[in-house]
Amino acid sequence: MVEITLPPDRPSPGELTVVRSVLGPPDSPWRGGARSGPATRVAVGLGPHRPRRRSLLLPTLVALQEAIGWISRGAIRAVAEHLEVPPAEVWGVATFYGLLDMAAPTGDVVHVCTDIVCRDGARRIAELRAEGVDARESPCLGQCDRGSGELRTRPWSTPAGATTVGGTLRLLADREPFSGLVAALGHEPSQVIDVVEASGLQGRGGAAFPVGVKWRAAAAGRPGRFIVCNADESEPGTFKDRLLLAEHSRSVVEGMTIAGYAVGATQGFAYIRGEYPEAREAFVQAIGEARELGHLGSSINGTDFEFDIEVRSGAGAYICGEETALLNSIEGHRGEPRSKPPFPTEVGLFGRPTVINNVETLANIPRILTEGAAAFRSDGTSESPGTKLFSVSGDVAAPGVYELPLGTPLGDLLSLAGAPEPRAVLVGGAAGSFVTDLDLALSYEGARAAGISLGSGSIIAFGPSVDLMDVCRRMASFFAHESCGQCIPCRVGTVRQAEALAEPGWGPDRLAVLSDIDRAMTDASICGLGQTAASAIRSAIRLGLIGGS
Ligand code: SF4
Repeated sequence: MVEITLPPDRPSPGELTVVRSVLGPPDSPWRGGARSGPATRVAVGLGPHRPRRRSLLLPTLVALQEAIGWISRGAIRAVAEHLEVPPAEVWGVATFYGLLDMAAPTGDVVHVCTDIVCRDGARRIAELRAEGVDARESPCLGQCDRGSGELRTRPWSTPAGATTVGGTLRLLADREPFSGLVAALGHEPSQVIDVVEASGLQGRGGAAFPVGVKWRAAAAGRPGRFIVCNADESEPGTFKDRLLLAEHSRSVVEGMTIAGYAVGATQGFAYIRGEYPEAREAFVQAIGEARELGHLGSSINGTDFEFDIEVRSGAGAYICGEETALLNSIEGHRGEPRSKPPFPTEVGLFGRPTVINNVETLANIPRILTEGAAAFRSDGTSESPGTKLFSVSGDVAAPGVYELPLGTPLGDLLSLAGAPEPRAVLVGGAAGSFVTDLDLALSYEGARAAGISLGSGSIIAFGPSVDLMDVCRRMASFFAHESCGQCIPCRVGTVRQAEALAEPGWGPDRLAVLSDIDRAMTDASICGLGQTAASAIRSAIRLGLIGGS
């Protein structure tokens, strides 16, 4: 038992209604009910015994933001009382996320992307402010195919816009819903893992880890396993998961359900980027339909297999795309990465074995079960089987999502999108690298041979008129802003990198500073953010794209 001090502020009736709509009515005087004791203190039993309840912290804060427009001190108090979490911790979580406001807005709020693709964002912000709108600078909103990205958080919406879809369609082709689940349920769970392993499917979120190997490791762990869909797509220049969630949600729901069957999980979580409200709505609808049709819930398809999915919304933090930061975020903590090992397949969500797969990875699963591993392998290369979605943006005639067999030359993809001869291409987003060789094979081994990473498939083309030094400065500022600050090489290094790039002039001293920062961040950071924060800048220097003047 720990005694904590509550702020004197009281929630408004509206805030209390929102809190209770997520957390339910208070079940005791200690959990948000009326008390006769001292008004400003509460004694609580903290943490570990009620981890599932604490995991409702972020959903409650998101509900307050959406309904009330900000998180007041009174609302913090109400959340703290209902969840038995110290107010300082609620405050610490609330202030971690860019889409949660801690001050009352004065009117409409619009977040405008000013990142590497939406370089016109500053002009748009000035335009909105002249109209009296509270326009704010934002990192990439995942709308790189629509020109200047915007997210209106009061009221909550994104501008409508169709996404170009092109290439050789397999994953994005229409198919019989839930036929993959039917096929999976005809096998033993271990046989489903065999099929996925034989397909050679690699994770599409960036790490390219073999999916079958991950599933087998989780299946061997202790019971109480979880499946988590990482739909926190935040890499600048990446928007293919937005399209998959909005238009192919059933495949993702089906992929999660098959994963649950294969590894012996009964519960899944889909963590969807807060900037994707329409995608979240489509996904929630797909879950509802699946339940109605008996493909989710208990006795799935008449068997004794039971599995269901909860949707969790992110709230504006790039780092939550890192798998262990995402787990902490679901659990109601700040979205800070964990040290690995142990890996999530061993100690994951709520300490249980957990499979975390990206949206695109899961969307591939039904097709593999329906058509077989050999059909999947008929596309792509022997080391990188299958097709891949690429988010193409920048100086291209037709920005959009393109599905192509892995191994396709970069130049072929750019020709399809209408950018046959860019000056440079950023592959893999801000955490990726610049390339100028259009013969680059877009496969995992092709990228490895070129010393780069495909990442999640972001392809940004830059024409001859683009100031690439400005692009590098924006990326450096992005990482300085998004570092969670947990480890020193990244917390200090990202800021020093941004400062070094902001200085005028260029010479050996600055190159030496950037090189030192690069080495420290790459070698000593805890997670991928710090380890890749210098990657694009390093490649720009190596290719002579910056630093020549
Ligand atoms: Fe946080 Fe950066 Fe360290 Fe990752 S590398 S844990 S983002 S400070």
